Amino acid sequence: MKRLNLFQGIGIVAGGIALATLAVPAANAAEPHDNLNATLWMQGSVEYAGVTMGAYQLAIAMLDKALADKNWTAIPGEQGGSHKDKPPAVILDVDETVLDNSKFQAWMVMNDTYFNSKDWGAFVNSVDSTPIPGSLAFTKYAESKGVKVFYISNRTGDLEEATRKNLEKYGYPMGGNVDTVLLKKEKPEWASSKKSPRRSHVGADYRVLMLLGDNFGDFVDGYKGSTAERHALFDKHKDMWGTKWIMLPNPSYGSWESATFSHDYKEPDQRGKKQGALSVWAGQ
Ligand SMILES: [Mg+2]
Repeated sequence: MKRLNLFQGIGIVAGGIALATLAVPAANAAEPHDNLNATLWMQGSVEYAGVTMGAYQLAIAMLDKALADKNWTAIPGEQGGSHKDKPPAVILDVDETVLDNSKFQAWMVMNDTYFNSKDWGAFVNSVDSTPIPGSLAFTKYAESKGVKVFYISNRTGDLEEATRKNLEKYGYPMGGNVDTVLLKKEKPEWASSKKSPRRSHVGADYRVLMLLGDNFGDFVDGYKGSTAERHALFDKHKDMWGTKWIMLPNPSYGSWESATFSHDYKEPDQRGKKQGALSVWAGQ
């Protein structure tokens, strides 16, 4: 929800009463932005970089195990028949998995605004995203082992050219003559944010060794349940985490947040719903 910033707030007050009566301290005139700390952590901290580097080092170790085991697949229900003799592939999400969009998050913090697709499209077209630490080394290692690297993202098809440019800018493997950048709405059957049709598309021709993402939806279609339903689905797949499925951290946005307000971005009191979802100490 768009919140008024300091200057807009003063403008509204000044329209009705004399400025001299404005006694509200400046620090209270604007609400704090929900994403300040998460953006700072993701953009500037060695702690964040350490976590993503660790996740990708684990992915490299697991890739070697997966290559040696012909029965290994990260998408057992979506692989499409026998996968043993198919060439190997890995599937990565793009945003906050491969590309760091924290400049866009920082722009929203500093402009007291929240996500909308028009500003997001302008940011993507600026080709200003940077590599998530560890992602370049992992994808290049996979390519060196003959593993095809696919990117399945809910960036929309109209942003494909800019997305490719941004990946190419840093030398990510681009698949040669195979289309490895599979975006939402690129084909009529890929209209949904749910990624299983695109994973199945890859699984028809490749043995998928690993999924990497920062959002539950990068692994399962049932990510838009309640927080309790999400945990039940997470537990159902507990053997996958850290082996075939590698999760990257994203404290800035994701279905973990929207689960608290029933994934309804028109909900006017998102902060209240999030506060209501907290488990709170009773106090002294
Ligand atoms: Mg993502």
